Amino acid sequence: MSKPMSEFDLIQRYFTRPTPGAVLGVGDDAALLRIPDGMELAVSTDMLVSGTHFFPDAAPYLLGHKTLAVNLSDLAAMGAQPRWATLALSLPQADEAWLRNFSAGFFALAEQHGVELIGGDTTRGPLNLCVTIMGVAPQGAALRRDGAKAGDDIWVSGTLGDAALALAHLQGRIVLAAEELAACAQRLHQPEPRVALGLALRGMAHSAIDVSDGLLADLEHILECSKVGAEVQFEALPRSPAMRSLSPSPSPAGGRGELMQRCLLAGGDDYELCFTAPAARRKEIEDISRQTGLPLARIGVIVAGSGCMVRAADGSVIKIEDSGYDHFR
Ligand code: ADP
Ligand code: MG
Repeated sequence: MSKPMSEFDLIQRYFTRPTPGAVLGVGDDAALLRIPDGMELAVSTDMLVSGTHFFPDAAPYLLGHKTLAVNLSDLAAMGAQPRWATLALSLPQADEAWLRNFSAGFFALAEQHGVELIGGDTTRGPLNLCVTIMGVAPQGAALRRDGAKAGDDIWVSGTLGDAALALAHLQGRIVLAAEELAACAQRLHQPEPRVALGLALRGMAHSAIDVSDGLLADLEHILECSKVGAEVQFEALPRSPAMRSLSPSPSPAGGRGELMQRCLLAGGDDYELCFTAPAARRKEIEDISRQTGLPLARIGVIVAGSGCMVRAADGSVIKIEDSGYDHFR
């Protein structure tokens, strides 16, 4: 290809797809959307910055996937049905191979979830990827952070800390065997947003959040919003085979045990859902786990008070130094 692409060619070629679910999609000064009667619109924005959220040379297909996945994860946590997204891109140059792969990764996941790209913005600058996602939930049905009640079970989906393990490997802090690395890298680069779980939890969970910054940091948001405390059983935290291979003995003491503890409790990029629900709902929640094919682990209980206490198998309290990722600390 010879002549450099214009901004409008780029948008037309890589980011314009049919949008039957919108009144008007890409190409005008704004998109037009109709919210079905009786529904509320859930809107969330998440930005991925080169050097902060991903390595500058990250594979563009996976970046396209992840840019949308982290946003879908927020809608999952709200129990909202994903519908539309906008994409704001800042790119150092119009690299066609990069754009082709990025948009392929983005649209593959979008199609899987019935999300239509209805607009965005494209500028030249440092690589920066920002999606605003929109979804719908029946009025009053969205899952929120402020509904947890003392006595609720605390649940978490999937397994924790795998993306953080992959990162520790990439940074040379541990060495994972090939098979385990592959599994953890998949979790880091191609997270699967738990949308079906979020939808199934409507009317069932009292509160929910997606685990993006680390379990304890994110659970703490539920606790603060709901004005309650929590007790978490360390042994109940769901572990992948890679995580289990790290420390055969259950007691987290020094070295690899300490790393395992940090990854499980405070590792970022899990994109699992943490939610609370009354004990009376246990059976239904186990049914949801079977229906969605997603393991759900009961990891503790909500208590009166504030803060989160983590207990070891022998009942002793585990001291936590680092509860999760914070961009400004
Ligand atoms: P304006 O100058 O009115 O802000 P733009 O030139 O930025 O419009 O965008 C033209 C159209 O293309 C708009 O409908 C906008 O939403 C859409 N658009 C721009 N960038 C993207 C992108 N990366 N993905 C999808 N749509 C985009
Ligand atoms: Mg614009």
